[in-house]
Amino acid sequence: MKATVGTCELCGRQDVKRTIHHLVPKEEGGVLEPTSFLCIPCHKQIHALYTNQEIALRLTTVESLQQDPKLQSFIKWIRKQHSSTIPKTTKSNAKRQKGK
Ligand SMILES: [Zn+2]
Ligand SMILES: [Zn+2]
Repeated sequence: MKATVGTCELCGRQDVKRTIHHLVPKEEGGVLEPTSFLCIPCHKQIHALYTNQEIALRLTTVESLQQDPKLQSFIKWIRKQHSSTIPKTTKSNAKRQKGK
């Protein structure tokens, strides 16, 4: 899966690594294949909470995902987390920064 850095469309955090989420799962007949860019924790959470069938039935827009009670509490929580909490592949700078 291709990853880019930018704003997560679900939680709105900036400068996070994002993955492409198919709003209508292909397995459920998504034809137009609308996609959205989600940070990794959001994306994982969606697929942990919902089956592809549920997503295809009622969660085919970012808005409907944001309004789902199950995700709302997660979004509130993730918004408070720093984008740096996402595991990064490069660690070189992490230990060198002493104070500011
Ligand atoms: Zn997110
Ligand atoms: Zn997805």
